[in-house]
Amino acid sequence: MITLALSKGRIFEETTPLLAAAGITPLEDPEKSRKLIIPTNRDDVRLVIVRASDVPTYVQYGAADIGVAGKDVLDEHGGAGLYQPLDLRIARCRMMVAVPQGYEYEQAVRQGARIRVATKYLNTARTHFAAKGVHVDLIKLYGSMELGPLVGLSDAIVDLVSSGGTLKANNLVAVEHIADISSRLVVNQAALKMKRSLIQPIIDNFAAAVERMAQEEK
Ligand code: ATP
Ligand code: MG
Repeated sequence: MITLALSKGRIFEETTPLLAAAGITPLEDPEKSRKLIIPTNRDDVRLVIVRASDVPTYVQYGAADIGVAGKDVLDEHGGAGLYQPLDLRIARCRMMVAVPQGYEYEQAVRQGARIRVATKYLNTARTHFAAKGVHVDLIKLYGSMELGPLVGLSDAIVDLVSSGGTLKANNLVAVEHIADISSRLVVNQAALKMKRSLIQPIIDNFAAAVERMAQEEK
């Protein structure tokens, strides 16, 4: 039996075609079902539905054999115990620094000011600003980072941006690109050794499907 960890929402939606390419069809829709363990058409594959940021943890401890997680989440987690064989090229967005319109970010950085940054991505933010030699006070939030600068909680945020619509709606502008983000297939290293005959074909089918989709995009 293979257990695959997924989160609801865009990761589930965008992984569904990849699952289909591997001959896996979920028997229930996690958006509608309250079940956390979802059976599939295959007796030897089941899905577990977990919080996006919990996917690496389930796979690291072997509670799930494989999973799909954003690079944002993997960077925060650190990736211990995880084999990352494949960039799935889904759920693509960018990790950015954003500030309120009119805030002189470059000037603040040049002057060596201490900048208060609200984010859910503490490790990513710490690494980014340390590499630039920018002094920051990091404030951990669990959501709606965009609100931080609007109510005086912080000067800046580090968050994911795709269309930029949310930034715009809140009078924020992106001032720095930290990383391109997409979702990765993650595999428990011990599971890969023990269950290779089950796991390797899934990796191969996913890889072929990702390649086909990349060709179609061109
Ligand atoms: P939760 O809602 O449980 O706090 P979450 O907000 O991280 O978790 P999602 O919004 O479904 O959950 O995001 C899951 C993953 O999708 C993220 O880890 C990231 O890799 C990617 N993602 C997040 N926002 C976007 C976006 N705007 N566009 C594309 N991909 C995104
Ligand atoms: Mg979200």
